[in-house]
Amino acid sequence: METGHRVVILGGGFGGLYAAKALKKAPVQVTVLDRRNFHLFQPLLYQVATGSLSPGEIASPLRSVLRKQANTRVLLGEAIDLDADGKPQYFFLVKRLVGLPGDHIHLRNGIVILNGVAQNPPKDGLNMPAFGEDQKFLDEFPSVTPDPEPGNFITEAWTVDFASHVKDGDLVVPPGQYFMMGDNRHNSADSRFWGFVPRENIVGRPLLNYWSFKTPDDQEQKTGMGDNLVWMGHVVLHFFSDTRWTRTLHLIR
Ligand SMILES: Cc1cc2nc3c(=O)[nH]c(=O)nc-3n(C[C@H](O)[C@H](O)[C@H](O)COP(=O)(O)OP(=O)(O)OC[C@H]3O[C@@H](n4cnc5c(N)ncnc54)[C@H](O)[C@@H]3O)c2cc1C
Repeated sequence: METGHRVVILGGGFGGLYAAKALKKAPVQVTVLDRRNFHLFQPLLYQVATGSLSPGEIASPLRSVLRKQANTRVLLGEAIDLDADGKPQYFFLVKRLVGLPGDHIHLRNGIVILNGVAQNPPKDGLNMPAFGEDQKFLDEFPSVTPDPEPGNFITEAWTVDFASHVKDGDLVVPPGQYFMMGDNRHNSADSRFWGFVPRENIVGRPLLNYWSFKTPDDQEQKTGMGDNLVWMGHVVLHFFSDTRWTRTLHLIR
């Protein structure tokens, strides 16, 4: 069981790594968060650039470096904001409710089998292709154990929790929790990636999509004043061409 204060270290560079090492014997729980899964020995970058070292020789996996440190865990992720007041910040997602508490779920060829009954796929739900291992993870869920990799949105907590919810090839939804999926089944970070959603995290049901606009995937991370002004200009200039009219003023079913 975790005890003591928690220390979160942003970045596993020289500063972060040595701070974590210095806390090895301290009575605290340390979390090192980095958007890369490795520590980069920057002073030798030029040797990589000139071809006398390979990139792997100056990059060490953070988990390996800190593996013997019992009070430390390493998480892969990007910090996008710091909330000095300690108020939780939420990111709202719209997903389809697929599994209620007690439901047994698995996917075969991308089709959801709920309590043994195949469900109709959403319209256009499987149009976008998925490849290789990704396809198996997405379409044959939960036959492949989630494995956090850079950029795949799988959370470490889900990786740990996952196996305890799989029974006879089905994922069994626990009490008070819900299984959510996006309709774009091959391009949706959903409960397959981050697990169940507790009831208290569900804020409501969407009724109407009043406006839909083509937006780059990384737009939500651009929060600076300059970025906002650029984006507002873009919206004004491209309002008619980039509005997705088929999805605008669309009732959600
Ligand atoms: C080519 C080169 C040669 C150098 N040579 C020397 C030298 O000979 N001697 C010397 O003393 N210094 C040298 N330096 C400088 C030294 O590398 C830096 O001073 C040192 O790396 C700074 O350490 P840091 O922990 O502050 O940042 P970094 O080592 O840059 O680490 C920052 C870490 O934070 C992570 N991160 C950043 N933003 C986020 C985010 N939003 N969310 C999650 N993770 C994030 C990054 O992925 C990174 O792992 C050199 C630098 C370079 C580039």
